[in-house]
Amino acid sequence: MVSRRDLFRWAAPAPSPRLLVDPVSCTARVDFCAVCVERCPVPGALTMRGSAPVVDAARCDGCGRCVAACPAPFRALELLDG
Ligand code: SF4
Ligand code: SF4
Repeated sequence: MVSRRDLFRWAAPAPSPRLLVDPVSCTARVDFCAVCVERCPVPGALTMRGSAPVVDAARCDGCGRCVAACPAPFRALELLDG
């Protein structure tokens, strides 16, 4: 059954992402990392899907804690301005 909340989300314009994930630089596939998801304070904003983190743009508030915690040698997470 479709809730009223789901209907509203479908009708509303898609939110702009504040965080980008570079799946090439993310090392989760080889070292089972999930540090960014563990450090995110907003439930559901960042989740692991398979072996890659996925951002929910409607929930992410752009706090940057995941970016600061990421141990990847090349930038795997990037905050966008605005
Ligand atoms: S920027 Fe903040 S809210 Fe958004 S995914 Fe990263 S830790 Fe979570
Ligand atoms: S912390 Fe960095 S390397 Fe680890 S899963 Fe998140 S983006 Fe990938």
